[in-house]
Amino acid sequence: MSGVLAIAEHRRGELRDVSDELIGAGRELADDLGEELHVAVISGQVEEFARTLSREGVDVVHTVTDGAEFNHDVYTQVTDALAAELDPTVVLLPNSVNGLDYGPAVAARLDRPLVTDVIDAEIDGDTLTATREMYGSKVETTVEVDAERTVVMIRGGEWPGASASGDAEVREAEIEIDESAVHTTVTGFEEVGGGDVDIGDAEVLVSVGRGIEEEENIELVEELADALDATLSASRPIVDSGWLPKNRQVGQSGKTVTPEVYIAIGISGAVQHVAGMKGAETIVAINTDPDAPIFDIADYGIVDDLFDVVPALIGEFEES
Ligand code: FAD
Repeated sequence: MSGVLAIAEHRRGELRDVSDELIGAGRELADDLGEELHVAVISGQVEEFARTLSREGVDVVHTVTDGAEFNHDVYTQVTDALAAELDPTVVLLPNSVNGLDYGPAVAARLDRPLVTDVIDAEIDGDTLTATREMYGSKVETTVEVDAERTVVMIRGGEWPGASASGDAEVREAEIEIDESAVHTTVTGFEEVGGGDVDIGDAEVLVSVGRGIEEEENIELVEELADALDATLSASRPIVDSGWLPKNRQVGQSGKTVTPEVYIAIGISGAVQHVAGMKGAETIVAINTDPDAPIFDIADYGIVDDLFDVVPALIGEFEES
């Protein structure tokens, strides 16, 4: 094999959206090479995951049973062993918290160049050209690496997911995990404040910024989120003030989100905030300042006081 090996990601019994996107990106790169796309799923309910990952465009799904959740040592060993066995041109990983945890270790073990946070990639002949953002998304850089053997980590939300199911061959990989080299054990998950909410998975986000003025006013925006069946997120000052938990923060030092609709309320549109939400399909901004930078990227803008606009919107949506 000399195609693409993508490593799927799951958490608490569910495949994450980026797994689908890895298939989308992996198929594109495999097509550039004219080679196969293999996907591997490690730990958890691998048989069930393998059925879901058997999408159109996937040639083989490899399953590796070991533990329930992500474990750095296990993922590193397994990816290393699969890559040694299959010798793929590209090892494709998600640029997620887990991916960033073990991707560099995989690249080091395989002695391959590593390109992180990739938003676009293609292979032409011997060269893999990847686009990645830098300096808080102020600039895009183009990186060229020798395509012969690379590890590429893709940013979530940048590739369309594979949708149609296919009939990939499912193979149970015969990999002996060296337990003496497994130095960590996942003992459980503890949610930080904010419960199970993952703003990265939300289809509609209502996001609140410093324009809300006071903590008790957050309730107003929460009401709008409820009326829209949306999830509440925030800019950094709201989180820094302790008004909402950290897992609600959108931006460079928070989460990157790609919802269908993002409603920015009293958010100026600082570059560090925009870095985390500019991938939203439709952006609506409510701000009293017509020169606020958020309007440069908004599809719909309302230049008005949020304390007038938000109650009016709640009234509209509660009626409908
Ligand atoms: P402001 O910039 O103060 O904007 C408030 C907006 O509300 C203004 O545009 C104002 O016109 C409007 N407004 C005021 N009153 C009303 C009203 N009544 N009705 C309607 N509009 C009103 N920020 C993030 O968000 N996420 C990050 O991850 C992040 N990471 C950072 C990392 C670094 C290294 C640094 C240096 C900064 C980071 N920041 C981040 C902070 C960022 O630079 C901005 O300070 C922040 O995004 C501003 O938040 P804001 O838009 O809520 O507040």
